[in-house]
Amino acid sequence: MLTDDSGSTGAERVVGHLLGLRIDVDTHDGMRDGVPSLLETLARHGARGTFYLSMGPDRSGLAVLNLLRPGFLAKMRRTRAASLYGWRTVLSGTLLPARPIATACPAVARRVVAEGHEAGVHAWDHRRWQDSLHRMSQSEVCRHLDRGREAFAQIIGTLPRTFAAPAWYTSETALLHQEELELAFSSDCRGSEPFLPELGGRVLRTPQVPTTLPTLDEALGDRFETATGYFDAMLTEALRAPWPVLTIHAEAEGGPYAADLDVFLAKAGQAGLDVVTLGELLAARLATGEPLSARPMGYGTVPGRHGRVSMQL
Ligand SMILES: [Zn+2]
Repeated sequence: MLTDDSGSTGAERVVGHLLGLRIDVDTHDGMRDGVPSLLETLARHGARGTFYLSMGPDRSGLAVLNLLRPGFLAKMRRTRAASLYGWRTVLSGTLLPARPIATACPAVARRVVAEGHEAGVHAWDHRRWQDSLHRMSQSEVCRHLDRGREAFAQIIGTLPRTFAAPAWYTSETALLHQEELELAFSSDCRGSEPFLPELGGRVLRTPQVPTTLPTLDEALGDRFETATGYFDAMLTEALRAPWPVLTIHAEAEGGPYAADLDVFLAKAGQAGLDVVTLGELLAARLATGEPLSARPMGYGTVPGRHGRVSMQL
């Protein structure tokens, strides 16, 4: 069995035929129902991934308050958020109390690691971060990261080695604090390949492993009419790009789109694409011997996603 260590496991893999799979867990239902479904799908195909767990309260329902923003309204209509997430989630944290996410399902979180996948921290409070990071004080940002880290350690028994900022939205304060937490790597942005972030002339030592491909919810109904069309295009892209990373969501590919993921993984296997954790992808990249390039990070937009995201420049 492979460990969740980014040390040596990926070193002997064929370069150019890896796909890093990142799995975001944003809601209580996604943790409880979506993650077990994903574990079964991945096991069927011998695929591995890095699960980023939201640890604390599920306030995803607060997104309902954003409905008045025109771009977001269009997106909610397109992805049929209520049917995708269920009304309990849509109302969570608004009319109904917020339910905890990973801290409510410790056995599921431990199963992720026991089955050979990698686990990291996505957030303490996903919505709070996504909506308010730019307004949060330095100490609140640090506290938020620390809280997620401590909750992770209590459940898994070891400190997390990787973080992924909610909604691909990070800040200098967050990047600098993650540096102090001695992570093996982070996945906080969109980009084209693993790199070292450069901040104000200083090169950070924590590599970023960016998401390189669009997500299903970004592309469906816009660039692609069907999930099959989307996944076929992602397979073509993954085979073409040197260090591709695909992000899926426990709520989508572990729910209504589980069958589509299953077909994608079968086709990926036939095409010789090895689906691995982000730690394994990074290890394979480092094993080439070529140092990671130092690149600045900034903010930008991606088609189909509301708001700004952090990007490799
Ligand atoms: Zn998320």
